[in-house]
Order: sequence, then structure tokens, then C-alpha cells
Amino acid sequence: VNDILSRTRSGSVAALGEAALIGRLRLWLGRAAPDAPHGIGDDCAVLPPIRGAGLITVDPLVFGIHFDGRVPPFAAGAKLVKRNLSDIAAMGGRPKAAVIALAMDPRVSVHWLRSFYRGAAAESLRHHLPIVGGDVTRLQSGFVATLTLLGESAGRVLTRTGARAGDRLYVTGTLGRSLATGHHHRFQPRLKEGRWLAARRAVRSMMDVSDGLAKDLRALEPRGAEARVAAAALPRRDGAGVVEALCDGEDYELVFSLAARADTGSFERAWRRAFPRVRLSRIGRFARRGSPMEAGERPLNSLRGYEHLR
Ligand SMILES: [Mg+2]
Repeated sequence: VNDILSRTRSGSVAALGEAALIGRLRLWLGRAAPDAPHGIGDDCAVLPPIRGAGLITVDPLVFGIHFDGRVPPFAAGAKLVKRNLSDIAAMGGRPKAAVIALAMDPRVSVHWLRSFYRGAAAESLRHHLPIVGGDVTRLQSGFVATLTLLGESAGRVLTRTGARAGDRLYVTGTLGRSLATGHHHRFQPRLKEGRWLAARRAVRSMMDVSDGLAKDLRALEPRGAEARVAAAALPRRDGAGVVEALCDGEDYELVFSLAARADTGSFERAWRRAFPRVRLSRIGRFARRGSPMEAGERPLNSLRGYEHLR
């Protein structure tokens, strides 16, 4: 029942034809798809003006790369929305509207695609995110859904630049074995947490962990400094070792730096009051290159994360 390709032509998207397929997509999206001109049905969707700075991100979900036949289609559709939401969370932003571009084998099952869209719709509704348009095109084989997400800042936009030598490093949740445990499609994007962090001046830089902490942290490194992590402080997901926690990827957690002068105790207490159920770990610091290592620390430059084009 979960097969992505239909065994019969009558059950495939090819049998539906383009106009009927677009009608079905709208139907499956339900309340997540507003009426034209604010949603699907015109040449463009018309959006209300946004108040803060605009944010835009795009991420695809490719069958065979980001999910496979073991992931239920409802969860795969939800993942398409969530991995983009995680990027908005990483800037401390708020999602505003999304469009979905589909490219797929005409033999894709209508049943399968319905569950995929229902999953995307459920996740969008949860975050008050309207899906306002999209496009459908044919591929020789395979399935690629690409979501473009517009957001707005909720005040300060927290970027990857801004860390300084001496900053402490923190990460939310747990890391490693995301594919093995199903976390890669079950996670919840850290939107509330991201906005809370962006509102705090002592938080100087942030990103979401998608390609593995060891690789991603390099993007936050200030000039002349390197990330040093205490292996014992790494929050590891069930059964994950240190290298898995640092390199596996698809964690969709937030990693950020906190100014050295900030009081870590009161910062951590404020976090626990705001998010009593979300683990927060102080994992290390940005140290000047060449400065002596502290006990238990390791540099990350020998480790690799997920490479997209290898
Ligand atoms: Mg990201």
C-alpha cells in the first residue's frame, strides 16, 4: 500500500492527467491551501505585505536520498515541510507561505501521493503555514518534491556570522543515528526555541544541524578561532557514539554560540523555564587557534560530515 509506484496504470498520476491532478493536490492540502488569489489557482499567489525582514529558503526531498520506501508517505510529506521550517528556525524567524514544485515519474501512485500531500498539509497547518502554489512536471523516473519557504523575522535575524573567540557552544536535543532511529522524519523543527534564542543579545550566531555537527560548526567559526568540543558533553541519541553524534547529520537541532561574558548559569535556567522538555547542552567553545587544549576537548577539523555531492 505504501509503494511509491502504482502497479496499475489506472492508479497512477498519469491516468489522472494534469488538470485533475492539480485539483486533487488542492483537495489533499485542504485548509492548508487558501483560495486564489491568496493561494493556488492564479499565475502567482498574492501575499500580504510582511512586517519584518523577509527570509527565503528552499530544500528538496528526493526519493532515494532524503527518504526511501521504509518511510510512510505521510511522514515523507511532513519531512519536506519540516526540513525547510528548520532553516527558518535557525534564523529565529516565522514561516509565512510556501510553494511546492513536484517532479515525478508518471507511474507514481495516486494513493501514495495523497498521503504525501496530507502529511505536508498536516505539518503546514500545525505551523499556520499556507501552501499557496506550486508546479508539477514529469521526470523519466524518480520523485523530487521541492519546497520554497518564505518567512519573516520575528525581531532580530540571527545569522551564522557573529561568533567571537571565547564564545561557548550549545546544542539543543540529541545528536546522531538520525536515519537509524527514524528521527530524520519524526523531528519537530525548533521554531519557538529559535525565536527565543534570537531575542537574546548574548546569543551571537546560530544554525541548524543538518549535515553533522562537526561539519556544520565550521560555518560558525570566527576568524582565528576553532570549535573545540568536549566529547563527554555531547548529547547522543540512543546508541550513538561520539563520531556518529558529530558526523551523522539530519539532526535538525539548533547549534549556537553564547558570548563569553554571559552568565551561563542564568542563561541555562532561563532556557529550562522556557523549554522544560527540550534538552540544552553546553558542548564546548570557540578557542583561538593554537591555544592549549583543555582536558577532554577535541578539535573537529579531522572529522567530516555529510557531503551533498559525493
Ligand atoms: Mg540549515
